Amino acid sequence: MSSTPSDYEAVIGLEVHVQLKTNTKMFCGCKNEFGGASNSHVCPVCLGLPGVLPVPNEEAIVKTILTGEMLECQIATRCKFDRKNYFYPDMPKNYQISQYDEPLCLGGAVKLDLLAYPKDVQKEESTIADKPIRLTRIHLEEDVAKSFHNDDGTSGIDFNRAGTPLMEIVSEADMATAEEAFAYLSALKQILVYGGVSDADMEKGQMRCDVNVSIRPKGQKEFGTKCELKNLNSISGVRRALKYEIARQIEVVTGGGTITQETRRWDDDLGETTLMRIKEKAHDYRYFPDPDIQPVRTDEGLYAEAKTRLPELPAAKKLRLADQYGVSVYQAGVLSADAALADYFERAAKLHPQHGPAVANLLLNDFLATATGENPLPSLEPHYFGELADLTATGAINSKQGKEVFAQMFLTGKAPAALVKELGLAQVSDTAALEVFCDQAIAANPKSVADFKAGKLNAVNALKGQVMKLSKGTANPTLVGDILVKKLTQ
Ligand code: ADP
Ligand code: MG
Ligand code: ZN
Repeated sequence: MSSTPSDYEAVIGLEVHVQLKTNTKMFCGCKNEFGGASNSHVCPVCLGLPGVLPVPNEEAIVKTILTGEMLECQIATRCKFDRKNYFYPDMPKNYQISQYDEPLCLGGAVKLDLLAYPKDVQKEESTIADKPIRLTRIHLEEDVAKSFHNDDGTSGIDFNRAGTPLMEIVSEADMATAEEAFAYLSALKQILVYGGVSDADMEKGQMRCDVNVSIRPKGQKEFGTKCELKNLNSISGVRRALKYEIARQIEVVTGGGTITQETRRWDDDLGETTLMRIKEKAHDYRYFPDPDIQPVRTDEGLYAEAKTRLPELPAAKKLRLADQYGVSVYQAGVLSADAALADYFERAAKLHPQHGPAVANLLLNDFLATATGENPLPSLEPHYFGELADLTATGAINSKQGKEVFAQMFLTGKAPAALVKELGLAQVSDTAALEVFCDQAIAANPKSVADFKAGKLNAVNALKGQVMKLSKGTANPTLVGDILVKKLTQ
């Protein structure tokens, strides 16, 4: 019996490494900082010299517990470290300090929110938006050094990264599409940034992801043989790599072949995965408890400390913003996707909470739609946005003038109210003045007047346009409409 591609579904599990934002490294006092001169942040501990004593970094433990709390994991009451033994040139101790049988966090989940999906599929995938992806575990370990291979054939090693705190988050194989993997990584990144745990920028290596993927006939419970993809350096790259790899595996199987367990490299420029190595048997790392590190109790001070840092999470913030400021759930979601943006919005709307939707429109439609760069925030005082929304909402200026003030406040850095005065934009709401303009427009446009009286009610718009012209755009259009209709129906 031959099978077709649509008979198969993908099974995906991700292992994500996250660099923690701490001042110092995991087991020594060296600075946890990148970009300095090579080998400038090193000491006997992180260089792996014999006879040294590692001391666990409490801040890294607190940040891992905090991550576990944000993702609703069970938190271990003690933190134990183990040695994972293997040889690698960028790891001079010949073992990595990690956690084996007692990870800090077990279970938990990342919830896939609609807005976490790639923009182009947000509409079609709305039915599966809230799917939770279960986590297996989160543990804490140390990063290795970085090797460089130069053009002249020489190699070098920079130990600045050696021994920096690294958190590994392992998911269950709960994802079924490249888009779900994309949403998982976006949602996870959002939480990590919210908690101040990491900047989690994949392009900077702050978040690194191993992608495990297999296929199976639809309806089959057992997993198929998986391949592991390496060399992914963006969330969209993970999506592209998975799309390619799933199609490749299906093609092999529908062509009568079988999948071998292997590690494959993703080339984002060529858009294909290629074989790196075949995994013949599971590694034996001969884990054992690190005899130099006492287990640390987490249930005394560290857990309590992590609890005090628990932020309002994106999902809760979204509901609160919608409720408190009357913005749409969609807009609340866009604002909450970025904690800094949500914070800016709240400061902007603070003095004029009743104009929440207008402030959100200014921020999301007028500002963000035209802004460039990643996650930009306006370079202006947030209250300018509230002030401008208020000037428009109260009719002090009309929406066209609002656009002009908006542009000018970015050009000059001046406050909206000051600009309205300076540019002579104040909307004319003085009825006596408007009546004069209306009379002039009526006298000059007998045809529109006749049309209106004959029942073509929108002929009033032509007259309104005349009044706006006569007033050089300063008239309050709503008031003008009222006055015209009154005059024409008297
Ligand atoms: P390994 O020992 O090869 O690292 P693990 O069992 O530790 O494998 O799993 C590593 C990751 O791979 C986890 O995220 C897990 O969910 C995922 N995974 C395991 N088996 C499969 C499979 N058959 N297909 C896809 N993903 C899988
Ligand atoms: Mg693995
Ligand atoms: Zn050091």
